[in-house]
Amino acid sequence: MPNTLIRNATIVTMDSQGDLPVGDLLVHQDRIEAIAPAIDADDAEVVDATGCIVIPGLVNAHMHTWQTALRGVAANWTLLEYFQKMHAGLATAFAPEDLFIATRMGALNQLNCGTTTLADWCHNNPTPGHNDAAIEGLLSTGIRAAFFHGTPKPDPKPGQVPFWEVPHPRKEVERLLAAHQGKALLSIQAAVLGPHYSTLDVAMHDFRMARELGLIASLHQGGGAARTPDGWERLEAAGLLGPNINIVHGHALSDAQLERFCGLGMSFSAAAESEMSQGHGHPLTGRLLRFGRAPSLGVDLESVLSGDMLTQARVALGIQRSLDNVAYREQHGTIPPTSTITTREALAWVTVEGARMLRQLDRIGTLAPGKQADLVLVRASDLNMQPVHDPVSSVVFQASLANIDSVMVAGQWRKRAGELLAGDLRADLQKLRASGLKITRAMGLAA
Ligand SMILES: [Zn+2]
Repeated sequence: MPNTLIRNATIVTMDSQGDLPVGDLLVHQDRIEAIAPAIDADDAEVVDATGCIVIPGLVNAHMHTWQTALRGVAANWTLLEYFQKMHAGLATAFAPEDLFIATRMGALNQLNCGTTTLADWCHNNPTPGHNDAAIEGLLSTGIRAAFFHGTPKPDPKPGQVPFWEVPHPRKEVERLLAAHQGKALLSIQAAVLGPHYSTLDVAMHDFRMARELGLIASLHQGGGAARTPDGWERLEAAGLLGPNINIVHGHALSDAQLERFCGLGMSFSAAAESEMSQGHGHPLTGRLLRFGRAPSLGVDLESVLSGDMLTQARVALGIQRSLDNVAYREQHGTIPPTSTITTREALAWVTVEGARMLRQLDRIGTLAPGKQADLVLVRASDLNMQPVHDPVSSVVFQASLANIDSVMVAGQWRKRAGELLAGDLRADLQKLRASGLKITRAMGLAA
């Protein structure tokens, strides 16, 4: 692979070394070799990035990519309708090939939108074939991915053990680990039910399994009553909480719990737009900030909303500023003297914090020599971006998919000059449409 020299760009590193108003970035193989005001490299392919802002590749910390063929289907459902119609309904009609095409196209859309790392939270996988198909879909795109192996949530049939009483299938996780260990762009992790959605025995088993296998255990917390109301206390007493536990949503946690969990190094992922839409409540962002922590962000559901992570940063920032402003006004009768959260913090939620949640901050999340070359060129010379007075604010508030010019993962261009480098997608889009139609028809949602 020839070296790549990205020249004359504004470089937002999100790293302690600071940003460069104009500078060069040299990529050697899969890594960043150097970042400096001017770099000479005779043997490099030079990319003139004049007018571009380079940012770290975005990290989508939570998405159920298997729902890509159902875009818009759940847009008007609350969480209760979603459980019934999606998990107990549509999900049951998926064959492995539906997992493949949804995951491939969902991941390609992530790359197109500037996401270089995707935490794919896959919980519609009743057979090993479904897992293999989903992972194949991820690998077919070149995205950096964490495959969070989950379990389906159908309504129990008469005589069947309900899903909340079934321990996580350790053998299948071990099979996936053995098959994919050492792959540069893929890690296998665990998407478990947790105490909100399972019995205590299952939660204990699953947390132990994750710890023994060295995996992140990610779980949904919130939405209706908990199956094990004192589950967190029992798990903590058993010494099973720590940095490998990732809580998604988490609204029902008390401040005391949240403070303890922050102290234990657990991570938190907010899906701000989906949470607001489906009835969870307000994202955890402000409560975490009070304890010196910050959330990673995820799209959660393309069956409801757009896959674009910059939108997620904007929505999460907007709702937290609104909450803070309203609280300040109620207390002081006036507007706060300045914004409570900066755009740089919001950009960190979709870069640094996502990398931290995946325990890969030593490799991704910021731009620095030695780190993986996962980066995005945002074309700031466009009509909706000019003039740029503050590059970070321009990226967070002005940029959209229309400005995502180029995307690199581990030194490889996956999008270049506005063009996704994934070949002709017409046949794949046809398969995605056919899959979506088959599934919605099977459940009586389409003619
Ligand atoms: Zn979710």
